[in-house]
Amino acid sequence: DHLIDQIAAGEVVERPASVVKELVENAVDAGASRIEIATAGGGKTLLRVTDDGCGIPEDELALAVRRHCTSKLSGGLEKIATLGFRGEALPSVGSVARLSLRSRAEGNGEAFEILVDHGRCEGPRPTALSRGTVVEVRDLFQKVPARLKFLKSERAESSAITDIVRRLALAEPEIRFEISGPDRTATVFPAARDMGERIGQVVGEDFATNSVAIDAEREDIRLTGLAGLPTFSRGNSLQQFLFVNGRPVRDKMLVSALRGGYADVMAKDRHPVAVLFLTLDPALVDVNVHPAKADVRFRDPGLVRGLIVGALRQAFAQSGL
Ligand code: ADP
Ligand code: MG
Repeated sequence: DHLIDQIAAGEVVERPASVVKELVENAVDAGASRIEIATAGGGKTLLRVTDDGCGIPEDELALAVRRHCTSKLSGGLEKIATLGFRGEALPSVGSVARLSLRSRAEGNGEAFEILVDHGRCEGPRPTALSRGTVVEVRDLFQKVPARLKFLKSERAESSAITDIVRRLALAEPEIRFEISGPDRTATVFPAARDMGERIGQVVGEDFATNSVAIDAEREDIRLTGLAGLPTFSRGNSLQQFLFVNGRPVRDKMLVSALRGGYADVMAKDRHPVAVLFLTLDPALVDVNVHPAKADVRFRDPGLVRGLIVGALRQAFAQSGL
């Protein structure tokens, strides 16, 4: 089983940033209002995610680190309301690192801790914690040469973590996010009143006045958000934030549709700044293509592409561009 977990780990966790994504999504699913991420050594030495969510009861701690144990599949695959649903993240991480899970379930007087050292489980045993959950991951992939060699420099892994946290923070404006550690300058996104405020925190206060609002619909597929003016372009695509049903995605077709919308108004070597939310019937989109859940497959990609390109062109035309 350890080998199976290690193989699965390669699918779910590619690098420290993908672990951060899984752990933060678990905290969101647990109803957290504050999520703290601490990293050291670009996440290769240490990753710690602390939340004030509902916690995990003692008798569920061991299940949480076992393969395919998820508490989130009651509605069936078609109705995935929560972010996690495969029950693969924690067992995968535990098979390629030293994992510690400390948690105090809501209404419980005591907290418990379970440790997993490269697949070997210890606990649960009592520990001290006032509320919520603390997940610590140490030495990720350090004993797995086949994965270790694909990791980039501390600096690159550290920025990949910042990037995913910005995307997750945009998806959950009311949650306070903090990211800190010896390998970075600390960043805080205080709980925001609304999406506009969070966009200001993450993308920059000058974005709102340098963008056009997008709100378009085609056959019950809705596109909303802000598209940066061509004059507000960037030299890279780091400031492009795309969401499908509230989840951050990095999908080739969507990125290409975004480019397509700017084709007439922006030089080819520039990159637009944009925050766009696509909302559609979950039955028309498969977010289950890849365990890392960044890719999506649409039932009708042409329709989605047309919606994005059309909405952007129309918005720019209306602004006289
Ligand atoms: P999934 O999220 O797909 O269910 P995971 O391996 O990510 O699978 O997590 C396994 C289980 O552990 C979850 O279903 C949940 O019950 C529990 N869990 C993990 N992280 C947290 C957390 N931060 N707070 C509360 N429960 C958690
Ligand atoms: Mg999960």
